[in-house]
Amino acid sequence: MKLLMHTCCAPCSVYCIDSLRKENIEPVSYWYNPNIHPYIEYKTRRDTLIEYSKMANFELIINEEYGLKKFCKNVIDDIEKRCINYCYPVRLEQTANYAKENGYDAFTTTLLVSPYQKHDELKKICEKIAKQYNIDFLYRDFREGFREGQAKARELGLYMQKYCGCIFSEEERYQKQIEKDKKIGLSW
Ligand code: SF4
Repeated sequence: MKLLMHTCCAPCSVYCIDSLRKENIEPVSYWYNPNIHPYIEYKTRRDTLIEYSKMANFELIINEEYGLKKFCKNVIDDIEKRCINYCYPVRLEQTANYAKENGYDAFTTTLLVSPYQKHDELKKICEKIAKQYNIDFLYRDFREGFREGQAKARELGLYMQKYCGCIFSEEERYQKQIEKDKKIGLSW
C-alpha cells in the first residue's frame, strides 16, 4: 500500500512509523503544519523531523508554509473550536489532496497517536475528507503507543515540544504560570 502520512512532528511519528512497519507498511511522511507558531518553533520542529527522517530512513515530503496571520484570521471568531473547525481540516485536506494527486492509495496522520488531541473528532474529519477526495483513510488508534514513542524520541535526543502548536495552545500550556506571575504583580 502506498501511504501518505501527515506528520505533525518527529516525536509523534516515532511510534506510528514503527507500528506501521510491523504491518509491512512503509509510510511516506508529509509535513504540512501552518498551525505551528512562532517561526522558531515551527523551524525547530520541521528541522527535527528532517533529522529524524535521516536517522530512521524514511521518505519525507516538506510542504513549506508558515502561516501565523492566515491561521489567526481563520480561527479568531471561535478560538475554542479552532482545532475542529480549522486546524485539523486544513492540514488533512491538503494531505488528502496531495495523496490523491500523486497516486497514493491512502492517507493517515500522526495526530492519531496523541491522547491530547480530539481523537474521535479527528477520525470523523478524516473519514469525511476521504469521501470528499475519493481516497482511503487508514485509521489506526496509535494512542496505545504514545508513551513508548515519546520515550524512544527522548532517548534519541529529538526536540520535544512543550505545547500543541498554535500560539493559543502555548498560552494554555503556560496558563498557571501566567496566573502566578499576575499574582506576584508589582512585588518583583
Ligand atoms: S491546539 Fe493544536 S490542534 Fe488545536 S488549533 Fe492549536 S495547534 Fe491546532
